[in-house]
Amino acid sequence: MNIIGKVTVLPQLPPAIARLSELAYNLYWSWTPNAQELYRALDCTIWERFQQNPVRTLLEVPRARLDELAADAAYLERYAAVMADFDAYMAQENTWVSRLAPTLRPVAYFSMEYAFHESLPIYSGGLGVLAGDHCKSASDLGLPFTAVGMLFHQGYFRQLFDKDGWQTEAYDEQDLTTLPLRPALTPAGEQARVSVRLGGRTVQVRVWTLQVGRIQVLLLDTNVPENSEEDRKLTARLYGGNQDLRVQQYVLLGVAGIRALRLLGIPAEVYHMNEGHAALLALERIREAVAGGLDFRTALETVASSTLFTTHTPVAAGNDAFTYELMDRYIGEWPAQLATSRDDLYALARHDQMWDNHLVPSFSMTVFALNMSRAANGVSELHGEVSRKMWNFLYEGAEPEEVPIGHVTNGAHNLTFTSQAMRDLLSTVLPQDWTERLEDEAMWQAVEGLTDDQLRGVQLNMKREMIAFVRARMREQMLRNGASAADVAATETLLSENALTIGFARRFATYKRATLLFRDKARLSRIVNHPERPVQFVFAGKAHPADNPGKAFIQEIYRVSQEPEFRGKIVILENYDMNVARHLVQGVDIWLNNPRRPLEASGTSGMKASFNGSPNFSVLDGWWREGFDGTNGWPIGEEREYADLTVQDDADAFSLYGHLEEAIVPRYYGRQGGDDGWAHTVRRSIETVSPRFSMQRQVIDYVQKYYLPVGERGARMAANGAQRAREIASWKSWVQGQWPFASITAQATLPASAQPGQTIPVVAHVNPAGIRLDELRVEAVLDRGGHLTHVPLTSRGDGTFSADIPLNDSGLYSVGVRMLPQIDGLSHPLEPRLIKWA
Ligand SMILES: *Cc1c(COP(=O)(O)O)cnc(C)c1O
Repeated sequence: MNIIGKVTVLPQLPPAIARLSELAYNLYWSWTPNAQELYRALDCTIWERFQQNPVRTLLEVPRARLDELAADAAYLERYAAVMADFDAYMAQENTWVSRLAPTLRPVAYFSMEYAFHESLPIYSGGLGVLAGDHCKSASDLGLPFTAVGMLFHQGYFRQLFDKDGWQTEAYDEQDLTTLPLRPALTPAGEQARVSVRLGGRTVQVRVWTLQVGRIQVLLLDTNVPENSEEDRKLTARLYGGNQDLRVQQYVLLGVAGIRALRLLGIPAEVYHMNEGHAALLALERIREAVAGGLDFRTALETVASSTLFTTHTPVAAGNDAFTYELMDRYIGEWPAQLATSRDDLYALARHDQMWDNHLVPSFSMTVFALNMSRAANGVSELHGEVSRKMWNFLYEGAEPEEVPIGHVTNGAHNLTFTSQAMRDLLSTVLPQDWTERLEDEAMWQAVEGLTDDQLRGVQLNMKREMIAFVRARMREQMLRNGASAADVAATETLLSENALTIGFARRFATYKRATLLFRDKARLSRIVNHPERPVQFVFAGKAHPADNPGKAFIQEIYRVSQEPEFRGKIVILENYDMNVARHLVQGVDIWLNNPRRPLEASGTSGMKASFNGSPNFSVLDGWWREGFDGTNGWPIGEEREYADLTVQDDADAFSLYGHLEEAIVPRYYGRQGGDDGWAHTVRRSIETVSPRFSMQRQVIDYVQKYYLPVGERGARMAANGAQRAREIASWKSWVQGQWPFASITAQATLPASAQPGQTIPVVAHVNPAGIRLDELRVEAVLDRGGHLTHVPLTSRGDGTFSADIPLNDSGLYSVGVRMLPQIDGLSHPLEPRLIKWA
């Protein structure tokens, strides 16, 4: 058909079920299977065809069917129950925040991607799922919270495999009227539009709103008629296009995002940059402050003091840096608006990069984010450590362990990923309000009351559903690729419900080593084809469209899956999305993850599997290094670093096969002989992982560790016309000017050996170059086997500082002395980034 226009005719719902429409526009349904069932019941073919999208389902279902259900007593009863739960959720006043953090200031959370549900494809992978889950738990806990993101009208991409298992990408234009979005309205009731200058043009941005339980997500969209064709495509694809497009998208997210909040009158006092993509929000906030009369440095202090930055990966591809020339094209007009110079502004983002064999000053989004915030964190304990080392160069003279980057270990939204069957089973042993206190570790011990039979019953059902799903998907793929009738028929027997089934699904970034399993195919074949104790594998995952090595991994798995000895026992599914993820984490027996340590900052899919009683089997990286306790799953490899990647891959593959053969397979099949060992591991995985790696625990950590103090600090700095910010800014620039002229020398009287508890006298002489002595922190630093202690020296008032330093433990100590400028109100002793060692 040659289309000349489109129109959406909205359904008129029968009054008895009229609220199906209201519920369709609140993503509450995305973590409430019983709510989804109300739409599936309308027409399950339509429901499945349109990615389980309630808005679309309501549009497509014929009126007669709606009338039929509006007169169906059983349906009305289910409808009433869901609506009662929904109303109770929305009206709940006694929330975690109201009880335990009532002074929390409103949070604005900025992220490039969000994964709420497969029908809203504005995400690529784990980062998006994490952001979506964060919003869901922010709603559950009652946070004053607004999220800001982008409406990618072609999404990331839909993944297809061709006949040879090579990934191809399809881009589907979303019809926005079929998504659970509404135009955001200004307080005056008008559709919200903001504009942003980009490359000498003015780009119009439409603002949509998405309701996620009690919180709101604002989504930015340039696809409006006023914009040029080119500008309309700025929000077409996530992570598509070239570096020019990336920078423009980052300007949109940050700048248009802040303008949207202001236009809508949404309060925000804590700003959370989820990954460096969001860093440019600081530009607009500084501009506002400068327009309000502050100088650049003072404005920066107020902005940074109320900002938290979360870094998500040590992998280079995840830490964008752009040439200054490229940045000039899109933020060239900003230095003047911020009352600063290009050099001063870019210095705050500088991270030199190799371009064509030359080291070139570059604008790093991560460095800028670190400079635009006074609180920063990684996403697991190990990742915090890796990040401190990685960004240590920004803090000259500091040891890696003191770099002010902390960590909050990631979690996942339990209810989004836990099957209804498992939820029902859990409800038989957990207290009635268990979904409201998922983070309560003691509560989860009740899972010990579940028997092997109960767990096995639920898990077998979920496995059957997963296998049916895999077969249907594979059949469709075969038909599309013109497979023979015999091959199509063979999809009916893919996978066996009796075999130990292992899932592996995630983005096919090469560091995740999706093909590690095939390092010794003969050994793998013996494991897979064991006559009494067979093992099978289900893979899924997308490679970035420009990542050919990632695509080659997919093809390798596809080819292995076609070899006679692995056929029907190893499968790789197309188009990994939240739907595939749910089926797999709910249906497999074990979840496998074998990234190259320490590059997996956290990982979250293994948490989702554990919630469903599928124990995690993984390299001790990211969250699993904290989660594994010897009883709740299995490790792969050792906690160590390798100089040679091949050696590391070999060692990890060897460990993987060994654990499978010696521990996992015997335990799983021991179940058939009535051995309770397997059920024990399943219970342990549920009860230990569910609370500690719940998104509720994660968001509570963010509130207590960051949102509360960052909000307080921001308010203190902004009070009285930003008086404190002004003092700190001018003190910092003065001290910075004096610092080259200040100096320190020190002596310690060190015996050749000492007794534990003995003290050593240390004396330092300082030339403060005019800096007040009480604004200098002079300290001895003791390094005992990599463990640092700082002992302050006392000023004698004449430039001499001294102390007797206790040596508490036995061991080899290195002693140093250094000075740092300090003043009340700093977020951290290293904040001025000035350190001088004697
Ligand atoms: C959870 C999830 C991820 C993240 O998986 P990792 O194993 O943590 O990399 C990616 N994509 C989807 C669709 C997910 O649900």
